[in-house]
Amino acid sequence: MMNTTILKNVEDLIEDNFDEFCSIRKKLHQTPEIGYGLYETSKIVKGYLDEWGISYTDNVAKTGIVAMINEEVDGPTIALRADMDALPIKEETGVAFASFNEGAMHACGHDVHTTTLLGTTKILNMVKDQLNCKIILIFQPAEEMVKGAEKMIAEGALENPKPDFIFGMHVWPELNIGEIGVKPGSLMASMDVFEVTVKGMAGHGAAPHQGIDAIVGTSQIITSLQTILSREINPVDAAVMTIGTIEGGQGFNIIPEEVKFKGTVRTVEKETRFLLKERFESIVNNVAQANRLTADIDYDMRYPITINTPSVVHAIHDGLVEEFGKDRIVDVENPSLASEDFACYLEEVPGAFFFLGVNDGKGGAHKLHNAHFLPPFESIRNGISLFLFLVLNNELYRNVKAE
Ligand SMILES: [Zn+2]
Ligand SMILES: [Zn+2]
Repeated sequence: MMNTTILKNVEDLIEDNFDEFCSIRKKLHQTPEIGYGLYETSKIVKGYLDEWGISYTDNVAKTGIVAMINEEVDGPTIALRADMDALPIKEETGVAFASFNEGAMHACGHDVHTTTLLGTTKILNMVKDQLNCKIILIFQPAEEMVKGAEKMIAEGALENPKPDFIFGMHVWPELNIGEIGVKPGSLMASMDVFEVTVKGMAGHGAAPHQGIDAIVGTSQIITSLQTILSREINPVDAAVMTIGTIEGGQGFNIIPEEVKFKGTVRTVEKETRFLLKERFESIVNNVAQANRLTADIDYDMRYPITINTPSVVHAIHDGLVEEFGKDRIVDVENPSLASEDFACYLEEVPGAFFFLGVNDGKGGAHKLHNAHFLPPFESIRNGISLFLFLVLNNELYRNVKAE
C-alpha cells in the first residue's frame, strides 16, 4: 500500500539537494522580516520557484505566495503550508548566518518552515509525473499575532481548487531532533485578546464621594474574573486567562476617571472558548455597573483552537510509525497552550498540524521566541521527509470522511 518506491527515490533526492536547502535556510535566516512586510523573503522564495519552473500567485495577503503543482492531474488536492515571518527580537545565536536586520530574528523557526516547504516543492516538482494528486504550496506571512492565515484565506488561498486536505508543522524544542509529535483533535490553544476601558468620574482623593473611582471598581472586576476559571470551568479542561497590563491614574490624591487593562485567554475546547467570552463580558459589565462604572470591552477572538481532524490523523498514524519508526513518532498527550493560526485553515479544510522535534541539546534546545533558538539543519531534512510522506501516501487518508 505504501508508496515505497517513490519514497526511497525522494530520500535520495533530499540528500542530493541538501546543500542547496541549507543555503536557502541560511539566506532566509539572515533576512528576517516581520508581519506582512516580507518583501525580501518572498523575493527569495519566488526566485527559487521561478528557477524550478513552478507556477504561483504572489501578493496574496501582501507578501504571501500560493504555488501549484500538477494543476491538471485528476485527483485530490493536498495543500501544504509554511509561515515565513520573523519576530522583533535581537538575535544572540552568534552564528555566521545570523540576522542582517538589526532587531529582527527568526526566533520561531519559520526560516526552517519556509525552507522545508521550498525543499518539498522542489522534490515534488521533480517527481510530479508519478503523483496522483494536485499540490498547493502556501507560503504565508504574518503568523505571529496578526492574522496572516485569515487574510490568506480571505484572499483566496483555499480556492480554485479548494484543497481536500491541508498539512503544516512547527519546529518544536520540547521534542528531540528526529521526533514527530502527532495528535488527533485539539493540538494547540485558541488565542483571544481583550482590552477593557473602565470609566468613572474624576475627583479629589480626599472627596471620594464626589467622584466615581475607576481603580477600586477595576480591582473588583479583575478579582471577579479569576473565578471564571476557578469556579466555572471543569478543572481538567485547560484554560488560561492572563491580565498582562493595567493602567490608570495620574497622582496619589486624584480619583482617576479611567482605567484600562489588557490580557489574553487561551482554551483548548470550543465550548470553553465561547463560555469564557460570554462570562468575561457579563462579569466586566455587571461588576462595573455595581460600582457605578461603565466598561467598554474589545474582545478579539483572534486565533481559533488548532484542531487536527481525528479521522485523518488516525488514518495516517500507523503509516507514520512504519515509515519513521516507533521511536520517532510521539503521541502528544496534552494540547499546548501556545497558539497557531494554522487553526484557521483547519476550520475550512480537514488535515493536521505536526510538531517537528528540533531539540539537539544545542541551539534547538532553547525555547521558541528565545534569542538563542536555532533549530539544526537536520530539522529541514526531517520536515521535508514528513511533507513528502503525507503527499506520497495520500491513499492512506484520501477516502476518509472528516466528521
Ligand atoms: Zn512564534
Ligand atoms: Zn511559530
